[in-house]
Amino acid sequence: MDGAHDYHDFQSKLLQRSAWSDVQKYVRWQQATRAARSEATAPPPTPELVPLSINLDLTTACNYQCDHCIDWDILNSGLRHREDKLRESLLQLASRGTKSVILIGGGEPTVYPRFVQIVEYLKELGLQVAVVSNGSRGDRLLEAAPYFSDPDWIRLSLDAGTDATFQAMHKPRQPISLDEICSWVPKIKKSNAQVKIGYSFIATWRGATREEVPIVENINELVLAAKRARDYQFDYFSVKPFLMRQEENGAEVMDPGSEDHSLDTIVRKIRAAIEDAKMFENESFKIVESTNLKLLEQKTWKQHTHQPKQCHMQALRQVLTPLGVFNCPGYRGAPHGRIEDSEAYCDSNAIKKTVLQLSDMLDQFNASEQCANVTCLYHSTNWWLQELIDRPEELEKIEPTDDATDFFL
Ligand code: SF4
Repeated sequence: MDGAHDYHDFQSKLLQRSAWSDVQKYVRWQQATRAARSEATAPPPTPELVPLSINLDLTTACNYQCDHCIDWDILNSGLRHREDKLRESLLQLASRGTKSVILIGGGEPTVYPRFVQIVEYLKELGLQVAVVSNGSRGDRLLEAAPYFSDPDWIRLSLDAGTDATFQAMHKPRQPISLDEICSWVPKIKKSNAQVKIGYSFIATWRGATREEVPIVENINELVLAAKRARDYQFDYFSVKPFLMRQEENGAEVMDPGSEDHSLDTIVRKIRAAIEDAKMFENESFKIVESTNLKLLEQKTWKQHTHQPKQCHMQALRQVLTPLGVFNCPGYRGAPHGRIEDSEAYCDSNAIKKTVLQLSDMLDQFNASEQCANVTCLYHSTNWWLQELIDRPEELEKIEPTDDATDFFL
């Protein structure tokens, strides 16, 4: 479930029996590729692997104008999926091993006119489904609620404890209040208690900017927001620090170069507010801190900016958007992260071409340079996969585990 302690434990997710054979296939392919290279023989055939998990951007349209939006540059581009092709792609992906889909970013998923039908279709295909939404179309989330099952989740990006701050941060194009959004949650839970619902809070502070636009500060409302989440029957309240986008390559980074006193003060303020918010925890409501916050606090975030040259996660988790398929959620819309067009998985021929493109991307995308400032959540998983590629005997020792958690990557 989103919000569980091990949500970012991707290694454990990949070790589950249902995912492990594809992970093994990938690692063996990479071992064979390296062996062929060192012996100057022909490279092995490229396996027809599809990602185990995708982020699916249904639309680039958004009905808010959030100052802190990380996808600002690609919003409202007017590009659309052809829904027949999208459905074909999802069918191909599900039948070839994809296990989970996160409906997220690049736009607001619930403004896609057939959002509910897409959720229904994804569940018919047997996929785990998660939704990250701004909550403005609670009616559509309620309509989709019956289709969800454990461990599916919905997370609402709300980031405020008062309506005034909510309005200042999100600038909805149509009038909607924070109370109105939250009021859908008890209805959704009543319709289907299995779907876990999260209240997401990106902590922002004075001085933070996006392309020189000053960001509204909200840290002082964290405790109020947590209380609101508990009162409106959310299952959890998650906090993460605001990320900046780096100009050169669009990567999401921690405030670069800000290991100074003010960042320490900010982190301490967030920590104190989280400790206060914990008074609202109970059996059915938890406070969840992001991995990034812990890294900032422990001052270990720099270690997570040291990536292997080859990012292995790009084979296991991709982003399907109307602009194309991208190698990482951090690079949706970025030309250097684009693997193929949006119909990359719509039939066998397209898939054959896509795996070749992926193979090129694996060779050419140098994560140790491109992601050198990114506090990558996949950092330890990438290094673990690298180790398995470098040491084939280690791969053979691994016993997969029973499926016990989700496959969201
Ligand atoms: S190393 Fe991390 S940030 Fe870079 S492409 Fe891979 S997953 Fe994304």
